[in-house]
Amino acid sequence: MKKTGLSILSILLTLMLIPIFPHFNVSASNFDSSSETAAGKDGMVVSAHPAASEIGAKVLQQGGNAVDAAIAVQFALNVAEPMMSGIGGGGFMMVYDAKTKDISIINSRERAPAGATPDMFLDKNGKAIPFAARHTHGNAVGVPGTLAGLYAAHEKWGSRQFHELIQPALKLAEKGVKVNWVLADAIEENKDKLAKSAAKNVFLPNGVPLKEGDLLVQKDLARTFKLIQKQGPDVFYNGEIGHSIAGTVQDFGGSMAIDDLKNYEYTIDEPLYSDYKGYDVAAMPPPSSGGLTVLQILKLLEPFNISQYDSRSAQKYHLLAEAMHLAYADRGAYMGDPEFIDIPEKGLLHPDYLAERSSLISLDKANKDVKPGDPWKYEDGSVHSYVEQNDEKAIGQTTHFTVADKWGNMVTYTTTIEQLFGTGIMVPEYGIMLNNELTDFDAIPGGSNEVQPGKRPLSSMSPTMLLKDGKPFMTVGSPGGPTIITSVLQTILNVIDYDMNLKDAIEEPRIYSNQFPTIRWEQGVPDDVRAKLAEMGHKWEANHGEIGNVQAIMVDPKTGAYYGAADSSREGSTIGLGKDKGNKKK
Ligand code: GLU
Repeated sequence: MKKTGLSILSILLTLMLIPIFPHFNVSASNFDSSSETAAGKDGMVVSAHPAASEIGAKVLQQGGNAVDAAIAVQFALNVAEPMMSGIGGGGFMMVYDAKTKDISIINSRERAPAGATPDMFLDKNGKAIPFAARHTHGNAVGVPGTLAGLYAAHEKWGSRQFHELIQPALKLAEKGVKVNWVLADAIEENKDKLAKSAAKNVFLPNGVPLKEGDLLVQKDLARTFKLIQKQGPDVFYNGEIGHSIAGTVQDFGGSMAIDDLKNYEYTIDEPLYSDYKGYDVAAMPPPSSGGLTVLQILKLLEPFNISQYDSRSAQKYHLLAEAMHLAYADRGAYMGDPEFIDIPEKGLLHPDYLAERSSLISLDKANKDVKPGDPWKYEDGSVHSYVEQNDEKAIGQTTHFTVADKWGNMVTYTTTIEQLFGTGIMVPEYGIMLNNELTDFDAIPGGSNEVQPGKRPLSSMSPTMLLKDGKPFMTVGSPGGPTIITSVLQTILNVIDYDMNLKDAIEEPRIYSNQFPTIRWEQGVPDDVRAKLAEMGHKWEANHGEIGNVQAIMVDPKTGAYYGAADSSREGSTIGLGKDKGNKKK
């Protein structure tokens, strides 16, 4: 179902109710936000920043539902994790509605402006412009969807006033938030990019990068939030903020115009469903490749019954890498925005197609010649070609959070401005960091994911829910560009196949490999196991590194109590509401 952006009713309500909203007191929190795990029967918030988790928990405590809390968390992350997500970006909010028992997704993916062209990322010689240059250009900025998506979610499910839900983030932006090590590293790493725009005044005051422990004050962003509180989303999509966004993008060489913001449309999507070992998996459909690819890999692995091998064994990592290669080959060839292209969704998940593809996996050697398959044969028999992309792009790193409330509503939300700090372009006087999401399009035209005006670039974001006997059992998601898919996948395998508790499932060392031969790996993959895989033909990246940042909630099927866990690769913060005496495992 497609929805147009903004409702006049929600704007009027916003305007009418402003004078009476109560103020949240952000600082006086009675929550312990320093823990990466928590249990609770009345609610749960898991995010990558303690200030955001506290704000979400407070909304729940004061009677808000999971969607209210998620809206407040997103605004708070815009302030506390400004390099990861915000109203200058887009995202996928998957919601389980406990009343209707439906799962749906508010899809606020950025869109290409009307002036975008398929060849806009090519140089004069027809070669892809190097990623470092193309991702900081105005052409990389997609029309932001996050604010429209938050309003849409609020209109559908919200129970508190929208302006109330902005208020804690507004205060945080005004008073300042302590720079944690994650933000300090991100500023240091991206200082050259930030120095090219108004962002320098905020993140590099007097030319010096903010460091851990410094106070990050964002007065312009606070003013923007106030404008949104008073005037509703129109001020962003058709008012002074929108004009300034379009002007800033043009200053950096892009084509975005106010009409692109006026015409922005979010969608409300249905998840893709598949079963896996007695669980129903609700996964993110295109324009994300996430759901199809996670489900394909799960299904490719099913015949191998991987839990017969130790979770850190050579056999397991080899099978994972092989299944990843097959699925990523199809991802590159057949996926894109379903408003613009046909995607062989049924073919890609057809049991005969999956059997054909998994027969290409050998137990003792790497397949060196993985090509996309022909899922169309199992869809409608039509003939399609694909365009190979030999163009490396840097892996994005944004954020995922998840919320549950005492009524059983659950939210799993991956939200992004693509790279750390997106393009690095801040809208002057409004404090908004602009995304570089359009570099998620193929740079080389002709394929399913080429740039088109109004089109949404192919994503990997994979907010996911697992259900058991029709009831939510687990939410999961991660940032990390294309590595998102394998982080979500491995967390699911660790819980279902390896029977790990949620925190262990998240901390277990992950791998990522989108094509033969190179494997990215986390610390903990044993040396002798890596040596065995090398004998089979695989290559390991020289050094280990962190992959993704998983946040997840599990529901105790007997008591309905929640168990939440955050990844240790950032300042993960898990807050449970209501004491739970139940089993913390599942
Ligand atoms: N731009 C990425 C995508 O949509 C997300 C980046 C990230 O979350 O790390 O796939």
